[in-house]
Amino acid sequence: MGEGGYLSSTPPLRGRAAPDGTVDLSRWSEAPTEARRTYEISYLTKETQSQSMKVGAVFCDYDGTLARMDTSRELSRVPDELVGTLTRIATHVPVAIVTMKDFDFIHTRVPFANGWACVGGLEVRLADGRIFRSRVRIQESILEEIQRRLPSGFTLETKRGADGELLGLCIDWRFGTPPEDDFIHGLLRELRSRNLYVRYEPPEPFIDALAGRPDEGIAVRTLAQLLGVKDSLVYIGDSVSDNSAFDEADLGICVVHGQELLPITSRAAVRQYELHPFLTSLLLNELEIPDDAWFFHRK
Ligand SMILES: [Mg+2]
Repeated sequence: MGEGGYLSSTPPLRGRAAPDGTVDLSRWSEAPTEARRTYEISYLTKETQSQSMKVGAVFCDYDGTLARMDTSRELSRVPDELVGTLTRIATHVPVAIVTMKDFDFIHTRVPFANGWACVGGLEVRLADGRIFRSRVRIQESILEEIQRRLPSGFTLETKRGADGELLGLCIDWRFGTPPEDDFIHGLLRELRSRNLYVRYEPPEPFIDALAGRPDEGIAVRTLAQLLGVKDSLVYIGDSVSDNSAFDEADLGICVVHGQELLPITSRAAVRQYELHPFLTSLLLNELEIPDDAWFFHRK
C-alpha cells in the first residue's frame, strides 16, 4: 500500500451493500456472467500490473461527483474537505470542472478551479477571464411555453451564458410527484420539436434541454489544451454522461453512490465517501498514483 494504506482494511468493493448502506453494488452480482467478467471491480493491486501514473490535471464533474444529488439547487455545494483538498491540488496542477450547470451557478461553488466547461461544454471559461463560447442559443419565449405545461412540484432552471443568453434549461421533478411516462414522453417530444438537444437518463428525475449537443469529451480536450496539461489527466465523474470524458482522460474514476454501474466506462471507481481520502492520498504522494493504489479497477 502507498500513502492510501490507511484504507487497507476497507473490504473489497464487491457483492452486497456496504455496512453503512451508502453503496449498493449488488447489481454487479446480478449482472449476466459475460458482463460480470468484463466489468468485475477489484482492488487495483500489483497483480493487475498497472503502471504508476504522474497526474498532470484533475478534472471533475459536479453533480453526483463533488456535490450530492439529493439536495436542492440552492443548497447544492461541495463539502468543505473536498474544497480544501482540491484547492491544494490546484496549486500544483490544473483543476477544472465539466458540468451541465452554468457559470453563474458553478463558479461560486467551485471558485478554486482553473477552468469550467459549463452547460456540457457550450461555454468554456478560464480563471484568467477568457471565455470560449458557441454561437447557439435558445429563444426566451420557449421558457414561458414550457413553464405553462409543467405541473406543480416541477422546477424550470435556466442555464445562461456570459451575456445572459439562454443556452439550456433543466426541468426537474426531484422534489415533486414522479410524473407518468406519457407526460415525460410528451415533454421530450415537445422539446425536440423545438430543435433542442435533449438529454434524459432515467431514473434521473430531470431533463436537460440545450441549445446544442453537449460533449464532455470535447470539453475535457479543450480545457486540457487551454490549461496546458502535460502529464496524465484524471477525470472524475459519476454517470454515463461522463463516458466521453472518461474515454478522453488517461484515467477515468467513477464516484459510486448506488447508481447503475454497468453502462459507465471508467476504468476505476471510488465510493463517494472515499473520494476525499483518495484525493488526499494523491496529494500526499506528490500527485503520483502508485501502482498499488487502493481504488477499484475494472478488469
Ligand atoms: Mg454527474
